[in-house]
Amino acid sequence: MLETSKEERAEVYRDSRFQLLLNKFLSGELDKLNPVYDPQQGYRYPQVELIIGDPTLTSEFLSRLYEHGFLRTELYDKTIHCPACDSANVSTRYLCPYCKTFDIRKNSLIEHISCGYIDTDERFDNRDKLVCPKCNKELAKPDVDYRKAGVWCSCNECKKSFDIPVPSHHCRNCNMDFMFEDAQYRNTYTYCLNETLMREAGTHYKLVAPVRDFLQSHGFHVESPSFLKGKSGANHIFDIIASIDETAKELLAIDIVLSPTGEAVSEQSIISMFAKVFDVTPAKACLIAIPKMSENGRKLAELYKIKLIEAKDQNAAIDLLEASLDQTSAE
Ligand SMILES: [Zn+2]
Ligand SMILES: [Zn+2]
Ligand SMILES: [Zn+2]
Repeated sequence: MLETSKEERAEVYRDSRFQLLLNKFLSGELDKLNPVYDPQQGYRYPQVELIIGDPTLTSEFLSRLYEHGFLRTELYDKTIHCPACDSANVSTRYLCPYCKTFDIRKNSLIEHISCGYIDTDERFDNRDKLVCPKCNKELAKPDVDYRKAGVWCSCNECKKSFDIPVPSHHCRNCNMDFMFEDAQYRNTYTYCLNETLMREAGTHYKLVAPVRDFLQSHGFHVESPSFLKGKSGANHIFDIIASIDETAKELLAIDIVLSPTGEAVSEQSIISMFAKVFDVTPAKACLIAIPKMSENGRKLAELYKIKLIEAKDQNAAIDLLEASLDQTSAE
C-alpha cells in the first residue's frame, strides 16, 4: 500500500463508482473480486465492468483503489501477452534448439531395469505390451521391471534429438512468434477490501443500512449513498436520498453522523450538510446525530432548516424518523 494524502483518498471516496463497489463489499454481495478468464482479452473483472461501464478502464480503476490503500491484492495468476498486439490469446510452443521448428516429437525415456537398456517408449512398444528391444523380455510392472528415465525429443524437420526444447510463444491474434525475452508477463490479482477500511466503512454501513431499509419498506425509492449535482455543478454525496418514486422532485436528503467517543456530535456536520443542501436544494434535509448534537449544532440546524434527529442508536433514530414522516404526511 502506497502512502497517499488524505485529500487524494477523500477524492476516491467521493467517486460514485467506488461507493457502489464499496457497498457491494459491505452488503456481503462481494467477498473478493476474482478475475474471470477471457481467451481474447485475458483476465477481466465483470463485476467492476458493470459498475464503471467501460471494460478498458477497469484495471486503471482497480490500481488506483489499490494505490490509495482501499483494496489489497493477492496474486492470482500470471499472464503472457503478445508484445505486438497485447492479446492474451497466446499459445506456448516447444522448439527444436537446432532449427527452431515447433514440429517436434516428445517421447518418454524408459529404462529396462534388469538389463539397463534405455530408449524412447515407442522403441519398447510392441502391440499391446512393452517389450525390451535389447533383451526381448516383456516389461510388465512399472517401477519393478522398468522405470521412466526422463523425456527425449526429436525434430521432425532436421531429425536431431535433444532432451530440452526451447519454449516460445505464438500469438493467435496477430500470428507473431516471440520468445520469453519479448513476452509481456503480467500479474493478475484478486482484490479484497482493506480490513481497516472495511471496519471504518462497515461501522458507517451498519448505521445507514437499517435507516435505508426502513424507508424502502415504507414505499420510498431510496438511493444510498446518493450523488446529486448542485447548482454550482459540484457533486455532493448524501448517505441516503429518498423520494416517493423515482421521478419525484421532492427529495429527502439524509446524513447520519456518529460520535465515535459517545460525546455530542460537533456542529461541523450541520455546517457541511448545509453547504450541500444549499447547492442541491432537496425538499427536506435531515441529519441523524448519534447519540446527540452539540448545543451550537442544534441552533444551527434550526437556523438552516435541517431536521435534526438525535438518538442513542439507529433504531431509536428510525422511531423518531417514522414519527416525523407521519407528522409530515399529516400536514
Ligand atoms: Zn532389456
Ligand atoms: Zn530441428
Ligand atoms: Zn499479437
